[in-house]
Amino acid sequence: MTTLDNKTTCCAVCREFSEQAILGSSYTHEPPDLDTRPGEMLRATLPYWIHECPHCGYAAPDLEERITDVEDIVRSEPYQNTEGRFLRHSFLLRQLGHFAEAGWTALHAAWLADDDGNHSLAQSNRRLAITLFKEGKSARQNFMNDPHEEFALVTDICRRASDFDEALSTCRAGLQGDGVPPLIEDILRLELTLIQNRDASRHTLAEIPERPEGAQRVTLD
Ligand SMILES: [Zn+2]
Repeated sequence: MTTLDNKTTCCAVCREFSEQAILGSSYTHEPPDLDTRPGEMLRATLPYWIHECPHCGYAAPDLEERITDVEDIVRSEPYQNTEGRFLRHSFLLRQLGHFAEAGWTALHAAWLADDDGNHSLAQSNRRLAITLFKEGKSARQNFMNDPHEEFALVTDICRRASDFDEALSTCRAGLQGDGVPPLIEDILRLELTLIQNRDASRHTLAEIPERPEGAQRVTLD
């Protein structure tokens, strides 16, 4: 089961105390979304992944952990003008040059906006995630285990943001060449159908048909 514990936390930036709900444990028994968002019960713990100090606005997974050079950024006007703890933490990471991690936090902000029913914020957060992942690649920071997984993730983020042209070109690029892992190929072929249907909604790995052991994939092209 999922456990949450209230903990009195001392902020590493302003040294003030606040009560924070800390995630003790959780589990997942559902397949993840195509953009890696975990199934339940872990899915529902998202709001507790980032905490925010009510005194200075410092936002991080652990407010007691001091990140080097973070104080000036937290006190800066652009940080204080950024709304929401996930976007604030993403802003921090970007300022510190951790672009790939900043991209993931922006994607998590999109999931939170999904749960709040705020579609325009979810869309802009997904576009921010793509921007940050691109900045990361320019700085030689990978955001997945290999390029195949990165193509699949970017395809889904673009599709969920209704950026269907970019989703399609990314999907096609991901399908090119030899050595595409079978699971990624199956995901990208599902994405192709979803993109053609202008479907920007959530889909999960449960929709990928299981391949028989050792089976050859039969395709029409
Ligand atoms: Zn603080």
